[in-house]
Amino acid sequence: MTTTPTTHQAHQDITCEQAATLYCESRDRPLTGTEQAELHAHIEACKPCVIASGQLKALFGQLDSLLAGDE
Ligand SMILES: [Zn+2]
Repeated sequence: MTTTPTTHQAHQDITCEQAATLYCESRDRPLTGTEQAELHAHIEACKPCVIASGQLKALFGQLDSLLAGDE
């Protein structure tokens, strides 16, 4: 299903919360091109999110190794 209710601008700003959500969702499903572009554009422009994404990445890495250890 590709019904996106929002109208897409070429460079639509997303909030930090949306960026974090997209970042988390990217682990569970492939992001659309638009979502990837929005996420990358936000992270490049938002210093806190650079740090946050780095921390999330580290956290996910730990989760992955934990889960891998469980199996
Ligand atoms: Zn941000």
